[in-house]
Amino acid sequence: MTSLPSKMQRRQFSDAVVSWFDEHGRKQLPWQQNPTPYRVWVSEIMLQQTQVATVIPYFERFMQRFPDVLSLAEASQDEVLNHWSGLGYYARGRNLHKAAQLMVEQHSGALPDDIEWLIALPGIGRSTAGAILSLAGGQHHAILDGNVKRVLCRHYTIDGWYGKSEVEKRLWALSETLTPAKRTGAFNQAMMDMGATLCTRSKPQCPRCPLQQTCGAFASGNPLQWPHKKPKKEKPLRSTWMVIAQNDQNRVWMERRPPSGIWGGLWGFKEFDSEAAAMQAVTAMNPRHQENWAPMRHVFTHFELTINPVFVRLNEASVSTMINDKESRWLAPDEVDGGIAAPVERLLDLLRESLLSSD
Ligand code: SF4
Repeated sequence: MTSLPSKMQRRQFSDAVVSWFDEHGRKQLPWQQNPTPYRVWVSEIMLQQTQVATVIPYFERFMQRFPDVLSLAEASQDEVLNHWSGLGYYARGRNLHKAAQLMVEQHSGALPDDIEWLIALPGIGRSTAGAILSLAGGQHHAILDGNVKRVLCRHYTIDGWYGKSEVEKRLWALSETLTPAKRTGAFNQAMMDMGATLCTRSKPQCPRCPLQQTCGAFASGNPLQWPHKKPKKEKPLRSTWMVIAQNDQNRVWMERRPPSGIWGGLWGFKEFDSEAAAMQAVTAMNPRHQENWAPMRHVFTHFELTINPVFVRLNEASVSTMINDKESRWLAPDEVDGGIAAPVERLLDLLRESLLSSD
């Protein structure tokens, strides 16, 4: 873990960011006009996972109908959600409504100006609380939304996925140490704006960025290396045993799978979920010949399946006990006219190839 920046480095960083804000930062957004804690709160909640351009008309309609905490608290949830309709992530709207009611009950209808009280309300996390108090009241609090995390991860080339608690802790420590006590609101607004407009996810505009000179990701030549991606979760592994039974006419025994579950309603071979069960069935078939084919891997969205094919050639006595009906029958590899799962099709191909080579 790298150490925190020195006093001089912090100063250089925050001066560059605040100067950029003075020259290029957005200052005309509706919630920046008359930035009361209530207006900043509503805007910050709407801006979570939603672009500024989408939020503007929603914010304006919301403010017209619910100009303050009291009008929001007294409205029905249906009406609040109606004004949220189309913004998505409706839990945000429900939490906003609930929090307004708590503000009326516990804080005389005002947003608390203490960070701990704010965080205790539904839907307000540490970063949102910091944004409300710094943008609306000039209080000295750091923020750490997704945009700020990206800028910090790149500038300080922070390895590891930022959702991991130790990485997040480090980012909070950096954000806190970099956030100046003076002009905190301008600094926080600038960090969010820079992340949204300059240090973007896929096309960082480094030549226009005020942090370029000290940015580690820019110096590396490949800023897109940061932030590191969320590690992919290993998929659970499952195994199945497919018994490919063949008769003397080179037909194979196929069964239609149950309508639900994987490959529902498709045609396949006899299938077992353990080797012991498969071997017990094979022994009962009393095959003339048996081969274990190479296992195959099939990837589903939520798991990976290892298919263990067991090929058996049956004698007449066993074949005569397996009678064709609607859901199971002896078929030549080319005769199956229902749906077949891809791995079963691959096994049928192998069977065709082995028939050709034995001709
Ligand atoms: S220099 Fe480039 S990578 Fe670094 S913070 Fe600025 S935009 Fe992001």
